Amino acid sequence: MNFTKRYIVEPGRKVSLAKRDPDDCAGIDSKKQARAILARNHDRLAKLQYLLYAENKRALLIILQAMDAGGKDGTIRHVMGPVNPQGCRVTSFKVPTPEELSHDFLWRVHEAVPPRGMIGIFNRSHYEDVLVVRVRKLAPRSVWSKRYRHINAFERLLADGGVHIVKFFLHVGKDEQLERLKARLEDPTKHWKANPKDFDERKYWGDYMAAYEDALSKCSTRHAPWFVIPANRKWFRNLAVSEILVETLESLDMQLPQAELDVSQIVVGDY
Ligand code: AMP
Ligand code: MG
Repeated sequence: MNFTKRYIVEPGRKVSLAKRDPDDCAGIDSKKQARAILARNHDRLAKLQYLLYAENKRALLIILQAMDAGGKDGTIRHVMGPVNPQGCRVTSFKVPTPEELSHDFLWRVHEAVPPRGMIGIFNRSHYEDVLVVRVRKLAPRSVWSKRYRHINAFERLLADGGVHIVKFFLHVGKDEQLERLKARLEDPTKHWKANPKDFDERKYWGDYMAAYEDALSKCSTRHAPWFVIPANRKWFRNLAVSEILVETLESLDMQLPQAELDVSQIVVGDY
């Protein structure tokens, strides 16, 4: 099963989210089987991250977008957990500060892009500037409508500089989201996450889906593809994201650098 092919948004194609099933499991029906594949992917990811770091030639940027309770935090924890924290940086993009708002929308984002050898994870991203900003009319259409072009140019710039970009939209159904938001109210250990605004945002679900469809359709490119990950089942979401990351990193054909010195000439002194 090639997950990259199955879930990619083909560049230039229009996406219909209604036609993408958030319950899809690619024929994998046992959690046990999924857990075994995920464990193997953890090992592969850890080794690939080591190579990326050692090679020090390129970077990996993972962008995560989803509706509230869509599973961004869980994906980071369950998929990236075993990766060496030294080689990885997570950036969560919140409501912009007054200083951030006084710059162009990519200003705060550029600074967070991983340098060579590193993995960067965006928990939300510059796509909020064509999602929440568009749906909640935080900027006029004349402003946000130009941003798709700016985003494509920005991501092209990063790709030309050796940053490999993979973008995941974690696709949960509206009913599943409601269950998760309600679960936050029922579990005292999750109360801190409960936010009455999340329920209000559900009024705009259709507008959000339309905004996502536009962002996914206009901004999935060869150098920075979007993937729509079925995310109603957390175990499958983790499996699919881990598979695509492994497939992406393996396709880079990374090599350990040649040692510049002849290690056989090193005298091991026993002082
Ligand atoms: P959370 O991910 O639950 O911590 O919430 C972060 C909030 O910040 C979400 O409601 C986002 O929609 C909001 N946010 C992130 N980026 C932007 C942005 N560029 N403009 C407006 N709101 C944003
Ligand atoms: Mg939230």
